[in-house]
Amino acid sequence: MTDYRRLRVALLGAGAVGSQVADLLRTHADELSDRAGAALDLVGIAVRNPDAPRETDLPRELFTTDSEQLIVGADIVIELMGGIEPARTDILLALSSGADVVTANKALLATHGPEIFDAADQVGASVYYEAAAAGAIPIIRPLRDSLAGDRVQRIMGIVNGTTNYILDRMDAEGSEFADVLADAQRLGYAEADPTADVEGYDAAQKATILASLAFHTAVPLEAVHREGITGIDRQTIDAARHAGYVIKLLAVCERITDAEAHSPTGEAISVRVYPALIPREHPLASVHGANNAVFVQAEAAGNLMFYGAGAGGVQTASAVLGDVVSAARRHIAGGVGVGESTRANLPVVPIGRVTTRYQITLEVSDQPGVLATVAGILSEGRVSIATVEQTIEPAAEQSLVPAEQGIAGIARLVIGTHTAREQDLSDTVDRLAASGVVDRVVSVLRVEGN
Ligand code: NAP
Repeated sequence: MTDYRRLRVALLGAGAVGSQVADLLRTHADELSDRAGAALDLVGIAVRNPDAPRETDLPRELFTTDSEQLIVGADIVIELMGGIEPARTDILLALSSGADVVTANKALLATHGPEIFDAADQVGASVYYEAAAAGAIPIIRPLRDSLAGDRVQRIMGIVNGTTNYILDRMDAEGSEFADVLADAQRLGYAEADPTADVEGYDAAQKATILASLAFHTAVPLEAVHREGITGIDRQTIDAARHAGYVIKLLAVCERITDAEAHSPTGEAISVRVYPALIPREHPLASVHGANNAVFVQAEAAGNLMFYGAGAGGVQTASAVLGDVVSAARRHIAGGVGVGESTRANLPVVPIGRVTTRYQITLEVSDQPGVLATVAGILSEGRVSIATVEQTIEPAAEQSLVPAEQGIAGIARLVIGTHTAREQDLSDTVDRLAASGVVDRVVSVLRVEGN
C-alpha cells in the first residue's frame, strides 16, 4: 500500500447526506486515497445529538457536539448541517484555521456566498460546493473548469425535484396540484411544509449559485425573480399539452444585452425562476419524476445537458466526495486556491426588462369584434401575435340558457406571442383584463426553449 500523507477530515452533520459521506469515506478509504493522493482520516463528526440513530453504522466515538474543537486542526472540513448558522461561523472558522471547505449548503451560499469566498481568498483556501446546485449532477465543475474557455449564454435548469415530480404527474395523469402534492408528501418527495419547493425558493437559491459562477458576477438572491407552481392547475397543464408544450419549473440564467443597464459592454444578466412552457421535443421536456437537469448553451460548445438525481442522501454524497478528493489534491499540492471570479460584475436586470415569448389564455364572450379588440390592445401594447387558437363553448352548455335566446357563449382564446418585453406584456394583460371584452385572464405563461 502506498504510504500517503494523512489528511484530517472533519465532518459537520450526519443526516441524510452526512451519514452517507461518513460511510463512504470509511468503506472506500483505499480508493479515495489513491484518487486523492492522500489518506483521508475522518477524525470526527459534529452533530446536535450524538446518540440519535443514524442511517449508516458509524462508531459512536467519532461523534461530538463540539464542532469548534473538531474544526481547528482539520485539513478539510465538510459542512453538511444546512441552514445559515452555525454553518456560516463554522465555515469561516475552518477557512481561517487553514482548512479547505466542502459544503452542499445552497441556502448559505445563496445568501452569504461572497463573504465565504472572500474569506477563502484571504487565506488562499478553496470552497467546493458541487452538491449545492443540483445534488449528484456534476454542474459546478463543468461551469467552472470544463467551460472555462467558453462563454455561457444561457442556463435553463430543472433544479427542484419536488416540483418536477408534481408537474410531471399532473401532466401524465391529468391530476390536480393539491392531490399530487399530498401524494408527494406521503411518499417523501415533498416536505410537510412544501413552501421552499413549490414557491420556487429552493430553485432561486440554486439559480443564484449557477448564475454567479457562469457569469463571473455576484448575484444577490434578492435579484432573482421567483414564481412558484401553486397557480398551475389541471386545465393549464391540459392546454399546454394540447399546444405541444409541457410545463416545468425552470431556473433561467441568461446573458442579455440591455441598454438601460449602463454596463460598459451593454451586457447584463437575467436570473429568474418560474413555471414555463417548453416544447415537448426539447430535451428538458423528457426530464421525468424527481430528476433534475441543467441545459447549458455556450457560445462555442453549443447545447449541453446534464441530467440525474438532484437530491437523495447517497446520490448527493457522491458529489460531496468528489469535492473532498479535489480538496485533498489541492491541499497536498499546496499553493493558493482558485477563488470565485466576480470580475465581470454584470448588472442583474429586473424581470420587467426581460424579453421572452408568452402564451396568454383568455376567456372572452363569443361576440363579433372581440378578437379584433383583443388584437388591437395587444398591438397597442407592443405585443405581437404569433398564433391564436379559439375554442367556443355554447352558452346553453355553460349556463343552461338556450343559445337561441341570443346570449353568446364563452370563447377561450389561446394567444402565442412573438418575443415581447415583460413590462409591456404585463401592462397589456392588465389592459385586456380591464377592457370589458375579457371575462377572465386564465393564465399567462412564458415560453422557453426554442
Ligand atoms: P439533515 O438530514 O437535516 O441533517 C443535518 C445534520 O446536521 C444532522 O446530523 C444534524 O445533527 C446536524 N446539525 C444540524 N444543526 C446542527 C448544529 N447546530 N450543530 C451540530 N450539528 C447540527 O440534512 P441533509 O438532508 O443531510 O442536508 C445537509 C446539507 O446538504 C444541506 O445544506 C442541504 O441543503 C444539502 N443537500 C441535501 C440534499 C438531500 O438530498 N438531502 C441534496 C442536496 C443538498 P443531528 O443528527 O444530531 O440532528
